[in-house]
Amino acid sequence: MPVLPAISRESRPTAPTHGGGLQSILYKVQEIAKDVVAPAAEATDRDARWPRQGIGALQQAGYGGLVVPCAYGGNGHGLLALAKVCELLGQECASTAICYGMHCVGSSVIAANATPDQRERFLTPICAGRHITTLSLSEAGTGAHFYLPQTTLEAVSDEVYGLTGSKTFVTNGGHADSYVVSAVAASPAAPVGQFSCVVLPAGTEGVKWGADWDGLGMRGNSSRTMELHGARIPRNNLLGKEGDQIWYIFNVVTPYFLIAMAGTFLGVATTALEEARRHLSRRYHTHVGASLAQAPVLQHRLGSLWAVLERTRRLTYHAAASFDAGEPDALTAVMAAKVEVADCAVSLVNEAMTLCGGIGYRNGARLHRLLRDARAAHLMSPTTDILRIWIGRALLGQPLLSD
Ligand SMILES: Cc1cc2nc3c(=O)[nH]c(=O)nc-3n(C[C@H](O)[C@H](O)[C@H](O)COP(=O)(O)OP(=O)(O)OC[C@H]3O[C@@H](n4cnc5c(N)ncnc54)[C@H](O)[C@@H]3O)c2cc1C
Repeated sequence: MPVLPAISRESRPTAPTHGGGLQSILYKVQEIAKDVVAPAAEATDRDARWPRQGIGALQQAGYGGLVVPCAYGGNGHGLLALAKVCELLGQECASTAICYGMHCVGSSVIAANATPDQRERFLTPICAGRHITTLSLSEAGTGAHFYLPQTTLEAVSDEVYGLTGSKTFVTNGGHADSYVVSAVAASPAAPVGQFSCVVLPAGTEGVKWGADWDGLGMRGNSSRTMELHGARIPRNNLLGKEGDQIWYIFNVVTPYFLIAMAGTFLGVATTALEEARRHLSRRYHTHVGASLAQAPVLQHRLGSLWAVLERTRRLTYHAAASFDAGEPDALTAVMAAKVEVADCAVSLVNEAMTLCGGIGYRNGARLHRLLRDARAAHLMSPTTDILRIWIGRALLGQPLLSD
């Protein structure tokens, strides 16, 4: 039987032929991922260490403002760039990818409606690589329903607001320079779902951090609890108008957050597949004088995994690009992309562990970290179950937030 040559699997960003643009950003990010993020990944996970070097390298390279419009000094990219950058980072370290991703989500929320003063105070340093921001939405009381804050925002004077409440799982907690915090008006008459977003600078009096983050996976995230005891912030840190920002949820927070996570966990799944491929290629059985790469059932299993990953990647890129292009069903596709990536990442890492045999199951094996990191994909908001409900509602013409 003729032996056909092996096909090339090379899909890495290639060196750009001209400067600027997404291709050159991806090329540089890949270098950072290999040279800075990868060597620190094991310690980031083992010691639950916030990935300062990786984030710093991305800032230094000029990508602090990846999704901030060019007019405000940013790189002016959207969801497609965010997906691909997080994917490259996530291949080496899911924590670095999500910490950077949350910075991008926070900066996109600020940029969506920033006043000239807010641009100067927050977006200029973000784009100059001098400022990390992040999103503080989730709360213990409302859990996965991250769009229902109970933290209150109260005018203390003409210049000052007081913030009171508690935020959970604040990624980049204690390391960011500012926090985009959601809140409701202190008045009990404030309608449910009418929330405001404000920028809380690091070091604000009245903010108390909970214990260090000690997760099963995503251990470098520093996703900590933030207690707000009448924390005082300038009133000109309000984004938009008081109570008018539910639109942020579906126009900015949800799409950016979903795609940052989809990219990150695509990266995790990609590395798991590569671990399995490498193991099958290298593992040699002496009794048959052949590697596992020659076993048809394993070829079949690996091929099936590749197909699932590839279709999920293409759905994610398509959803991100269609959101960037302002297409009508883009948000539904973005929601579906995160759901599919979560399913794909969890099942692919599981399968890869089976294909890698006892070697993959060892403590300290790369798959060990990938398995723990992947498990966060379903439960990070918007969660898989909630997204499936929202997708169904979107198709049925029902309001997404009807509970
Ligand atoms: C590693 C990590 C990083 C995070 N980073 C951030 C961050 O930076 N900023 C931030 O604001 N938040 C962050 N979060 C919080 C996260 O996004 C979720 O909001 C939170 O994990 C879910 O809340 P909970 O644990 O209270 O879940 P619960 O509300 O207890 O939900 C438990 C399960 O029930 C399901 N469920 C709940 N209600 C319903 C319903 N009505 N219908 C169907 N299913 C339902 C959920 O989908 C979930 O699977 C992070 C979480 C993790 C684990």
